[in-house]
Amino acid sequence: MSTNPSVLSTQPVKKVVIAGGGTAGWMTAALLKKVLGKQVDVELVESEDIGIVGVGEATIPPIQVFNQYLGIDEKVFLKETNGTIKLAIKFENWRVKGDSYFHTFGAPGTNMGFCSFQHYFLRAQQAGLTESLWDFDLNYLACKEGKVGKINNPNPIFEMQYAYHFDSALYGQFLRRFSEKLGVKRTEGMIDKIDTDTTTGFIKELTLKNGTKVKGDLFVDCTGFRGLLTKQTLGTEFEDWSHLLPANSALAVPTKRFETTLPYTRSIAHHVGWQWRIPLTHRNGNGIVYSNDFMSDDEAEATLMGNLDSEALDTPRKISFTTGRTDKQWNKNVISIGLASGFLEPLESTSIHLIQSGIVRLLKMFPNEGIFQSTIDTYNAESKQEFETIRDFIVLHYHLTERTDSDFWNYMRNMDIPDRLKNKMAIFADSAAIFNDNNDIFRDASWLQVMMGQGSKPTDFHPAAKVPSNEDLLKTMHNLLRTKQQPLGHLTAHDQYLAQ
Ligand SMILES: Cc1cc2nc3c(=O)[nH]c(=O)nc-3n(C[C@H](O)[C@H](O)[C@H](O)COP(=O)(O)OP(=O)(O)OC[C@H]3O[C@@H](n4cnc5c(N)ncnc54)[C@H](O)[C@@H]3O)c2cc1C
Repeated sequence: MSTNPSVLSTQPVKKVVIAGGGTAGWMTAALLKKVLGKQVDVELVESEDIGIVGVGEATIPPIQVFNQYLGIDEKVFLKETNGTIKLAIKFENWRVKGDSYFHTFGAPGTNMGFCSFQHYFLRAQQAGLTESLWDFDLNYLACKEGKVGKINNPNPIFEMQYAYHFDSALYGQFLRRFSEKLGVKRTEGMIDKIDTDTTTGFIKELTLKNGTKVKGDLFVDCTGFRGLLTKQTLGTEFEDWSHLLPANSALAVPTKRFETTLPYTRSIAHHVGWQWRIPLTHRNGNGIVYSNDFMSDDEAEATLMGNLDSEALDTPRKISFTTGRTDKQWNKNVISIGLASGFLEPLESTSIHLIQSGIVRLLKMFPNEGIFQSTIDTYNAESKQEFETIRDFIVLHYHLTERTDSDFWNYMRNMDIPDRLKNKMAIFADSAAIFNDNNDIFRDASWLQVMMGQGSKPTDFHPAAKVPSNEDLLKTMHNLLRTKQQPLGHLTAHDQYLAQ
């Protein structure tokens, strides 16, 4: 018997059972098996009678690292998932109707020494600079020309990060084949009954409708919004964030692809909610995200269908959700990953990233000879912080707006927001400074673009930006603008790149 008060179980973890075979389930299966090899058996249970969520997804750059861990070749990945390159999101109508800005994966400007680029940029504007912040961003310049590519120059001034748009259902199927080759066992069947240990409360076994029993030491709940293991069986509480992000509905519809594939996602705000356009190689993903408290389904459908750029290939599919997260992402011997762990609307394309970071966190803390409360608490604290920083970043887009044209925008503009976000917006507005929290996946450059794009105008900047003379500063800025243009000639039109 262990004397460590933190120990919950001394049973070695030799078998992991993953419930659910959507993107979350198969991403988890693939990486656990790849890293843990023969040390741990991995079995995934899924039911073909229950569909998966898959609407044509946009991602953020760390997805590249996930594929690299697995050793997946980028060309194969793009082909298998009908994927395209994403350099940015274009936000349209968010500050006011008719206005737009980009949130790119690049970084406007360059490292200027002691203080960040925006301080020099603001000072240069006072000195007569007419170019925008985004003119200093290579990703933005490439978006304007519809070009993509890899820049083989280690100078960070030429950094051009990218992610992908892809069909996550196809990604799941691809990872299924990949995982099965590695030795993951797939069991088809509907989970009907879940047994827990009467002493520890741990889940012991799943029973499928056909009577098959699946035992495990550790369970990963990837059953989507229903959270069959964590919410329905262990009773894990759900933290509801609808007061900050009231959207609770989406309608998704595929449309014909365009002749020219954009290298960015479009996010178009409407009088209530917003619409996404995600270019894939075989079709476009489209959808509207809205709150039923402010707009009916019929009105949402009319808004979506009236704002499509190409022919609809189906009728819209409704998906209902509640924004928030389970308060214990790891509860007893169950870790929830994917939609089972919580949901934040796809405004900044973060759900698949949260799947990835959940899996990586689990692997870093993977139990060996037993499960400890200390591990669970650390896992939960880190994931809470990560979810909250993403939530705040999404709230920023809605709250920092000048739109007054509906009850919805008036609510979003006037609602009370978390202190962390309040402080972040205030310090930027007062002094142009940006301070990031640990576990915030969005870097300063992201916060900068969205705060400036949504209309924040800092009233001051760092005194170091006043050191160069007006003339020297403008010269530096104009040199930088020219330098940022240099790689454009080496990039390729997006469709040509994909065809290659
Ligand atoms: C409107 C919308 C737009 C989105 N856009 C983006 C985006 O742009 N970028 C992004 O990163 N993410 C996006 N997402 C999120 C992304 O689609 C999901 O994170 C991703 O698909 C993972 O889903 P999942 O695997 O957790 O759940 P699901 O796809 O729902 O899979 C659940 C699995 O559980 C299984 N299951 C459930 N119950 C049982 C049972 N009783 N027995 C057996 N099996 C069972 C099902 O068979 C299925 O395999 C979006 C989500 C929505 C709703």
